Order: sequence, then structure tokens, then C-alpha cells
Amino acid sequence: MSTNKNHGFATRQIHAGTQKASNGPLCAPIYQTSTFRFDTVEQGGARFAGEEQGYIYTRLGNPTQLLVEEKLASLENGEAALATASGMGAISSALWTALRAGDEIVADDTLYGCTYALFNHGLTRFDVKTNFVDMSDPARIEKYLTPKTKVVYFETPCNPTLKIINIEEVSRIAHAYNPEIIVMVDNTFCSPYLQRPLDLGADVVLHSATKYLNGHGDVIAGVVVSNQAFISECRMFGLKDMTGAVLSPFDAFLLARGLKTLDIRMERHSNNAEKIAAFLKEHPSVATVYYPGFEDFPNHAVAKKQMQRFGGMIAVELKADRQKTAACLNKLQLCAIAVSLGDAETLVEHPATMTHSTYTAEELKGAGISEGLIRISAGLENPEDIIADLKEVLDLLV
Ligand SMILES: *Cc1c(COP(=O)(O)O)cnc(C)c1O
Repeated sequence: MSTNKNHGFATRQIHAGTQKASNGPLCAPIYQTSTFRFDTVEQGGARFAGEEQGYIYTRLGNPTQLLVEEKLASLENGEAALATASGMGAISSALWTALRAGDEIVADDTLYGCTYALFNHGLTRFDVKTNFVDMSDPARIEKYLTPKTKVVYFETPCNPTLKIINIEEVSRIAHAYNPEIIVMVDNTFCSPYLQRPLDLGADVVLHSATKYLNGHGDVIAGVVVSNQAFISECRMFGLKDMTGAVLSPFDAFLLARGLKTLDIRMERHSNNAEKIAAFLKEHPSVATVYYPGFEDFPNHAVAKKQMQRFGGMIAVELKADRQKTAACLNKLQLCAIAVSLGDAETLVEHPATMTHSTYTAEELKGAGISEGLIRISAGLENPEDIIADLKEVLDLLV
């Protein structure tokens, strides 16, 4: 039942974290409970004092959450993990744990929208300043590292332009400046099947488990993976007291269920994206395809080194303005017009009117998001059917 470090990825995604339960169920039961009974007052006291192992209350831990946590710790090659109610719950719980007033963050300039808002509008209220820098050349961070820098933060590939950042180099430069700096990587676009930042020198991995980890579009969840000390502090302070972003046992069950097929899903997403990207590149209505698997894509060599495959995400710039792009997407039959990513269904979104609608025209330009840019999350359907659906609407633009 238990797994060890020598087991392969597929074995660990299925077996890691499995607990013995009464009646011998193959699948873990859902511990749908808010609190746990103590045998005696003394036992309750011992648990609160940390003198006895055992559950107290689901905001502090629950066996169904533990199942997910042990799977993710194993898959990311981390010592421990913490399941949270959303990706933003993971990100904010980790940041609240790491930061004090007066600290500074160095962050890449292309971030998930709500993370950007948290840095730019949230943490600034508490006297935490973020310096944004394009980390596609890791050496650029040097100028921004100061004795106040507590966290270095980035995503790779980035949203929506799929910019690639060298995890090993950024981690090396940050730690050479100060070994105490906590390098945090949002690994949502890859999942640990494609990329493992802790192996490359990062200190904390964050996920929106809503996306590939769950993979079925029916859960909002997040996870933090790191060393035992950071995760304990994150559990007993960042999550328990600061955010309260607790993952429900039912959602933890669904997430553990989704994780059992992570590797085969990521292979299929990657295969489909590869085929879709190749088709788009040749289509006359397409100006540019952003896909890390292309040999001429910036930092392709870094992507090839740090990712197992190139993932399921593609961005495409159409030769069209906002209205024509919208009219084109509105005619899709199979692909869904939706934000989010990593689901069985192919999802197409328009960043300028959706995920990045809070950006000013200037900011959109700066981030390389044109009115004709669309983002595709390749689903698990037959690739020829996805391509036929895209072809039908793109042909209308020619
Ligand atoms: C979706 C997403 C998040 C936020 O996750 P939620 O589960 O929606 O809270 C954070 N980072 C990235 C890269 C994402 O795609």
C-alpha cells in the first residue's frame, strides 16, 4: 500500500498517501467531518499541546486532505505539502507565511492576474513591495535583489504568452545573493509530471490544483509543496490563522481521484497541443503561434531541459481585431469558450476581454497581449476533431 522514493511516477500518483481504513476499501473514504472526537479531555489536551499525533479539527488537517498532500509531496519530490481551497489560497497562505512588513519580493513581470493583484494592490497595503522584472534573462534579477528581498517569485511557462524562465539559474542567482531567499515557483501550467522546480533549486512549489492536477474541471483547489519546516508553518499560521483557505474533504477526494491519471493526461494534452500548434502555424489567418515546443521559440532550449514535454497550452495571435476575433470564437462548436485550463475539454479564451481585461491598453501592449491573441488549453479529445473545429472558424478570417 505504501510507496517509496524508488517507485516510478505512475505508481506514486496512484499509491502515495493511501491510508489503511476499516473494511479495506480500495479507494480512500471521504472523511466528511469538521471535527474529531477525543477519547478524553486529556487526549484533546495532548493533541493541542502537540504531544500526541492525531486529528483535531479539519482546518488543521484531515485524512482526505492528507491523501492529496502525500501524493503531491511525493510527485514534486518535496518533503511535505499542504492542500488548500484554491490556487490563490495556496499562493496567499505561502506568502503570508514568508513575509513581514518591510520585506521585498522580486517577481517576474508576467503573472497570473490575481497573483499580480495580490502583489500590486494587496501586499502593498502591508508595506511589502514587489519589484517586477522580466526573468527570461535570469541575470536581470541581480539588480533588484536587496537585503530586504525575502521572496523571488515566478511562473514558467507564463500566462498567456508561454514565456519560459530558467528555474535553475534564477534559483542559483537568488541563493548566491542570500541563501535565505525563498524561491517560489507557480508550477500550474506544467504539473510535476512535466516539471519539478524543487529538483532545480526552488524552495516552494505552488499549484492551482483546479487545473491539470485535478484535470476534470469540477474542483477549485490548490497546493503548496516545500520542506517540512515551511509547510508546518504554512499549515499552523499561513493557512490556519491568515487565510483559512481549507480544502473541503470532498474536493480533496476528487483531487486525489484526478491525480491517479495525471501522467497519461499530461502525455495526451502534450500530444494534442503539439499537433494543434503545428496546424495553427501553417494557417493563413494566424500571425504568430506561441508554443514552447517550437525550436525557434525564445528559450526553447531551457524548456527542453527543464520540461519533460511542452505541455498543453498554446497562445495564438490571429490576423484580426477584437471584434473579428470574438466573432470567430463565437462560431466554435467543439471547443468551449472558457477561462481556466487543464481540463478534458479544449478551452479557448480571449485574454484582452477576459483574464487580462483589467490591464490598460498600455499594459496589454507591454505584456504582448494583442486584441487578436487567443489562448488555447488543448483538451483530451481526438486531436483531428479539435483541429477541424479550429479550422472551420479560422477559415472564415481568410
Ligand atoms: C488559475 C491559476 C491560479 C489561481 O488558481 P485558483 O485555483 O483559480 O485560485 C494561479 N496561478 C496560475 C498560473 C493559474 O493558472
